[in-house]
Amino acid sequence: MRKIILITGASRGIGAATALRCAQAGYDIALNYHRDAAAAERIAAQVRALGAQALLLQADVADPGQVLALFQRLDQQPAPLWGLVNNAGVVAPKARLDEMAPERWQRVFAVNVMGSLLCAREAVKRMSRAHGGAGGAIVNLSSRAALLGSPGLYVDYAASKAAIEAFTVGLAREVAAEGVRVNGVRPGIIATDIHADSGMSEALASAAAGIPMQRLGRAEEVAEAIAWLLSEAASYTTGTMLDVTGGR
Ligand code: NAP
Repeated sequence: MRKIILITGASRGIGAATALRCAQAGYDIALNYHRDAAAAERIAAQVRALGAQALLLQADVADPGQVLALFQRLDQQPAPLWGLVNNAGVVAPKARLDEMAPERWQRVFAVNVMGSLLCAREAVKRMSRAHGGAGGAIVNLSSRAALLGSPGLYVDYAASKAAIEAFTVGLAREVAAEGVRVNGVRPGIIATDIHADSGMSEALASAAAGIPMQRLGRAEEVAEAIAWLLSEAASYTTGTMLDVTGGR
């Protein structure tokens, strides 16, 4: 029986790489995206070329109504939801805290934290044996920033990822006896478009010198860790964070 993995923010970067990796692993993929329909459609075509079903689901994960509508569309699929990857995330331009406006904090927390909570709540309602589900796995995207704090760059983003880590551990214990595993991945500096949003693209090359492996990570390397945490190979792993940082 086919199973569906829902990946938020799957139109590019780590989400897109995870969609392709999970398609290779034999899952059908529900690809959520926010704005870039053309990019999401390109990833969906690559998923289908791997022999998996691809369902495109546009939604702003920070919007409770849009998340509910997304899950209602998933409910119409013949295959059950088996996995959720809370990958959609945003960062804002590099700044010190004393230069930041509260509106940016609201957006960073709305997408990164609220979005993950909303999607996880709906996923648990469908996966948990307490709700009649068949079990499943959730993987949340944290960041090494949750531990480093990102001073002078984006402490708000770092704080949102620390919230994700507490939520990962708590939810994992809440639903551990109900067949649902909840884990997190903590990427280091991965070469994706997110760095253009923080104005850090130029600094990436020099950042590599501070990484023990002397290079940035690739989205595919994070996708590999996510795919393992989703898989049956990780059947006794829950409530943990997996670093994918090149040693940083
Ligand atoms: P990215 O290249 O900027 O891609 C972000 C994705 O999220 C896009 O598909 C975007 O969709 C989607 N998205 C943004 N806001 C959304 C919203 N409100 N609702 C639904 N989708 C939304 O990011 P990435 O580098 O792959 O990062 C993915 C995750 O890994 C994030 O949670 C990030 O914080 C985390 N992470 C990344 C790094 C890194 O160095 N890259 C390091 C640590 C952690 P549209 O393009 O359609 O708007």
